[in-house]
Amino acid sequence: MGLISGQQYIDRINNLHPEIWIDGEQVKGKLSEHPALKGIMKTKASLYDLQLEEEKIDKMSFHLGNGERAGIAFYPPKTKEDLEKRRLAFQEWAKATGGLLGRSPDYLNTILMTFTQSAELFKTQDPKFCENMRNLYEKATREDLSFTHTFVHPQVNRGKYHYNLADDQVAARIKEKTKDGLIIKGARLLATQGGLTDELIVFPQGGIRESSMANGFSLPANTPGLRFIARESFDYGKSRFDHPLGSRFDELDSVIVFDDVLVPWENVFFYESTELSGQVYSQTSFFPQTVHQVVSRCIVKTEFILGTIQLMIHTINIGGYDLVQDKVADVIIALEAMKAFILSSEMQAKVDRWGTMTPASEPLHAALCYYAKIYPTFSEIIQSLGASGLITIPNEKDFNSPIRGDLDDYLQAANADAEDRVKIFRLAWDLSMSAFGTRQSLYEQFFFGGPLSLSKRLYSGYFRDPQIEWVKDFLSIKD
Ligand SMILES: Cc1cc2nc3c(=O)[nH]c(=O)nc-3n(C[C@H](O)[C@H](O)[C@H](O)COP(=O)(O)OP(=O)(O)OC[C@H]3O[C@@H](n4cnc5c(N)ncnc54)[C@H](O)[C@@H]3O)c2cc1C
Repeated sequence: MGLISGQQYIDRINNLHPEIWIDGEQVKGKLSEHPALKGIMKTKASLYDLQLEEEKIDKMSFHLGNGERAGIAFYPPKTKEDLEKRRLAFQEWAKATGGLLGRSPDYLNTILMTFTQSAELFKTQDPKFCENMRNLYEKATREDLSFTHTFVHPQVNRGKYHYNLADDQVAARIKEKTKDGLIIKGARLLATQGGLTDELIVFPQGGIRESSMANGFSLPANTPGLRFIARESFDYGKSRFDHPLGSRFDELDSVIVFDDVLVPWENVFFYESTELSGQVYSQTSFFPQTVHQVVSRCIVKTEFILGTIQLMIHTINIGGYDLVQDKVADVIIALEAMKAFILSSEMQAKVDRWGTMTPASEPLHAALCYYAKIYPTFSEIIQSLGASGLITIPNEKDFNSPIRGDLDDYLQAANADAEDRVKIFRLAWDLSMSAFGTRQSLYEQFFFGGPLSLSKRLYSGYFRDPQIEWVKDFLSIKD
């Protein structure tokens, strides 16, 4: 089959019937018709259609060798040119969503590619586990499967000396091992798009000490006992004019409950292995390959934000003020810094021990830390430039009502009529102030572990002996 169309994605997910709960009710019927899910499913479908477009297909996919094609994110890069190809394809998809979809399929497809490249690692526990990973990859490329993942245990007790030990009943763990597989009971913190993908990948947090929680496996979203408890949707069923972003890009995040879920042995990559739980991150290129996709997306997102800000400025004619220019300069600096980080990572790329061309981790790690810190300031910048313009935003119904004349007269701007001005400011509001916009800010800060844990890891992992030796030498020179 190879690449699928948007309709094939929708039909497949509709036929899965995973157990999703929203607003106290289990979603029944077609997911693509549910008010909270239809916007994001339509958007994802449009991404699948985009990769099939005649002029895009070469950019977005590669030949599998059997006459079929698969999305480029599945492609294990062998050269620096391959990395560039991957970046450009990631950015093509990101452009279709303003970079606002953290979990476009290329994110998890990249993770699957990376784990499969280093699947030999799983042989150390059982050769079959290595095959399981390769089989999943094979199936995913053949059928263009989509994935979400859950890596983190629930936020019950993050105390310094609390390690989710065996007496903790909340975090998902092995309850029983049977001849058919593992029985998992408990919960995982979160999966963005939980239930909206074909499969769920479950990996442990690095550094886990409790072996019953140290498991890696994948499950179809409709596995019995697997329950997705979704947060309130930020797609309020409003028009594109009213909620230009929330109506299309709200990915929905879910708590995952494993209610005595059977994970068949064919789906297991490792189990009860605190050692492999660390090695899947430290001995593979999971981090650089995944963050390469992330940073590619974040560049596009920053461009989208910059364009929105500049339109606001032009609309109410505030570009002549120093303060305004200073704030826009901050966004431009962020954009150029992110572009530089990714190019640096590609320039310094090396083939890893599994034969995959791997971008350098350090610039990507720096980019991740930087973006988690800088992103919330974009919302502050939008708010400080938009001021009251971000709340004088009547909706589409107001514009279609008898007060239209008032709106036309009193909401006009220096360089736009009332309707165009409100359109631009509603976009800025949805980017920075609505529930959708604030979730974006939370996402960019935390989806990869939070700003503090990211910088702690950079501090401990960054090789800086040459700099230390240089300064020591400098100090040792006598007059
Ligand atoms: C919008 C969104 C979408 C997400 N999607 C996914 C997903 O699809 N899949 C997935 O697996 N995960 C997802 N995550 C979860 C993400 O991985 C976690 O939010 C992240 O790892 C941080 O964990 P936490 O939320 O439990 O925060 P906590 O670890 O509980 O942190 C809370 C606060 O305590 C502090 N703190 C906690 N522990 C320490 C420590 N040891 N040292 C210093 N300070 C500490 C933190 O700095 C932070 O300020 C998502 C998160 C968000 C916000």
